[in-house]
Amino acid sequence: MSQSRYKTMGQQFGRRSWAEPWKIKMVEPISMTSPKERQKALIDAGYNTFLLRSEDVYIDLLTDSGTSAMSDRQWAGMMLGDEAYAGSRNFYHLEEAVKTYYGYKYLVPTHQGRGAEHLISQALIKKGDYIPGNMYFTTTRLHQEIAGGTFIDVIIDEAHDPDDTHPFKGNIDPEKLETLIKKAGKENIPYVSLAGTVNMAGGQPVSMANLKATRKLCNRYGIPIYLDATRMVENAFFIQEREAEYSGKSIAEILKEFCSYTDGAWMSAKKDHLVNIGGWLAVNDNELFDKLRNMVVIYEGLHTYGGMAGRDMEAIAIGISEAVQDDHVRSRVNQVRYLGDLLSEWDIPIVQPVGGHAIFLNARSIYDHIPQDQFPAQRLAAELYLDSGIRAMERGIVSAGRDPETGDHRYPKLELVRLTIPRRVYTQAHMDVVAEAVKAIFDNRKQTKGLKMVYEPSVLRFFQARFESIT
Ligand SMILES: *Cc1c(COP(=O)(O)O)cnc(C)c1O
Repeated sequence: MSQSRYKTMGQQFGRRSWAEPWKIKMVEPISMTSPKERQKALIDAGYNTFLLRSEDVYIDLLTDSGTSAMSDRQWAGMMLGDEAYAGSRNFYHLEEAVKTYYGYKYLVPTHQGRGAEHLISQALIKKGDYIPGNMYFTTTRLHQEIAGGTFIDVIIDEAHDPDDTHPFKGNIDPEKLETLIKKAGKENIPYVSLAGTVNMAGGQPVSMANLKATRKLCNRYGIPIYLDATRMVENAFFIQEREAEYSGKSIAEILKEFCSYTDGAWMSAKKDHLVNIGGWLAVNDNELFDKLRNMVVIYEGLHTYGGMAGRDMEAIAIGISEAVQDDHVRSRVNQVRYLGDLLSEWDIPIVQPVGGHAIFLNARSIYDHIPQDQFPAQRLAAELYLDSGIRAMERGIVSAGRDPETGDHRYPKLELVRLTIPRRVYTQAHMDVVAEAVKAIFDNRKQTKGLKMVYEPSVLRFFQARFESIT
């Protein structure tokens, strides 16, 4: 923030800043590259940020998954790994932490989130079932489909509008849900798949009121609710901030109450829990637990490690208790918001309101002169890298893929670039650099041309597709 702006705000509003509740003990040097080096790296990568080498990246905002900085306590915990094949001490620590902070009775460890999604989908879904949820997530939906189910989006309409400022854009639309239950029949709906903060909608939260109403509706039909708890502490923060009756409660209290209205949860510990790998599945139903415990030994590992080392489980157990601290969550979300505020102040179009883990640039609006089939978001992510070595991710027409029937591109309404902020990794100065890079690209937008795709994989093309600049 510039000196003059700081002074003005200080004088006018008696400004009080927030700051991170930690200090830096160890650092990882990162590469500063020249524009010429970046130009070469980008062409070598076919204008695809997934194909860049990490060592050529200065500020890496590709994802917040597994990219968190662990605390000194977590690193100390890594040294206390009990690597016994069965009954590792660290498993019991993890089990205790999940019970304490999430409140579920039974725990099944998994190697990461998708391992848990696989187990719960296979255990509960039969062929022809429908699984309603608040917007899809890539791996979640895929596992539901592989198990023979069809995912049905029952999120409120506001979630699909990047400019709508609804405070809880992750909410379930009860009317859509009840219509589906009546049409499909409750016996064909194994559970409601609820995500706490909706990644694909921009990190948008679900309100406690909405969950209570959904619970009531589900109780009438005897349908359980299973929670994707991956970014649930961020969701709890938004409840504390935006639902009056929760303003005096702690994140930990809100998290536990939220989970109490659900029947179980799956977790990618790579997000909220401040570790680089890991996950779990937790349920209250004894019979279901029995089934899951039998399955985990086939697909993940014994039921007391599930694909993780003992030290991984210890780091998660400690990470859980750090993740639910109010000061931690506040600084995490406020860092994302700080970046969003700078961009909004400069009238750069982003998805509103700013969510918990990322800023989504509206590439369609920034490059309104580039047709969607010349990949404006892909171009914007490439320009960011070229300008400052910042790595972001396309979430638009490339990610959407082709329609399997017509073979045409799918043309999604949202053509976005995601700037995802890792937890406890970058400083406010890094955020300033990012904001200023986006501003420079925005100011130069009229000169920017589109891309053409020169290599296209048949599935999940966004990972490996290659592009060239249109001249
Ligand atoms: C990352 C993620 C998953 C999958 O977890 P992995 O640990 O990457 O396998 C599931 N749901 C959401 C919302 C996620 O963000």
